[in-house]
Amino acid sequence: IEELERKDVRIGDMVIVQKAGEIIPEVVEVLYHLRDKDKELKRPIIPDKCPVCNTPLVKREGYVALRCPNPTCPAKVKGEIELYGSRMGMDIEGLGSVVVSQLVDKGLVDDVGDLYKLTVDDIAGLERMGEKSANNLIDAIEKSKDRPLFRLLTSLGIDYVGETTAQVLATEFGSVDRLMSATIEELEKVDGVGEKVAKAIYDYFHNERNIRIIDKLKQAGVKMSDEVEGGERPLSGKKVVFTGSLSSLTREEAKEIAQKAGAKVASSVSSNTDILVVGENPGSKYDKARELGIEIISEDEFLALVRGEKV
Ligand SMILES: [Zn+2]
Repeated sequence: IEELERKDVRIGDMVIVQKAGEIIPEVVEVLYHLRDKDKELKRPIIPDKCPVCNTPLVKREGYVALRCPNPTCPAKVKGEIELYGSRMGMDIEGLGSVVVSQLVDKGLVDDVGDLYKLTVDDIAGLERMGEKSANNLIDAIEKSKDRPLFRLLTSLGIDYVGETTAQVLATEFGSVDRLMSATIEELEKVDGVGEKVAKAIYDYFHNERNIRIIDKLKQAGVKMSDEVEGGERPLSGKKVVFTGSLSSLTREEAKEIAQKAGAKVASSVSSNTDILVVGENPGSKYDKARELGIEIISEDEFLALVRGEKV
């Protein structure tokens, strides 16, 4: 926002943008000479209240963007539920933004925990939703109860916790309960979790609303740990890397299977790697693994390993 003022960007301006950071483009240059000289361009209006719930916006320290601080702001709740159901999260097919928006607006869900209380009738009553799609969505919600721990952690929307950090946390702590009772010091010790991330995780799990959400998820029977009942995890503690394209699995599926078997999945080969799983057309990871003398196995051997067979 300061940028807009500093560069004097007006509505209708032609600008040159470049991709900065992950997604948000940066205005590099405003083409002032292309402005119509006869017209006074309006300056953008910077909101001071949330356009959805009217709560005054705040700027958090260290952030550029203005945020609505209301934890139950409908716009935020919708965002949370969409993230929860996203492919990177709990992968609930059919839980798109149109559906989510209606569920929240009609008061059927206040948070992700309420998804598991929905009935076919609730959903069939939404616009553009037939009985069949309602049934499918209920099935998809039901299926989401059994995702690996790192998916659940990715889907909760904890600040700074994306898929990679979620995987590390799942491997280190193994269950939501253990993660919830971790101290900031314990969290900071985890690979790739600095002070800022540790605090964000700690704050998330010590927030009243979030504790209630976790409780609802538990009550609904959402899996809260990676522990396999009564079974050994065949890849427990092993660091696994994949390279090349697999024939019977997508990379995401392979990661999940490895994770469920207790492995820690990394994206690059290092001297810490235990196993490299090689598919078609492996890349440079293959050469590196050979150089380092790391165990290299095929996709079939990997599948046998996770079933607990010797290869
Ligand atoms: Zn709001």
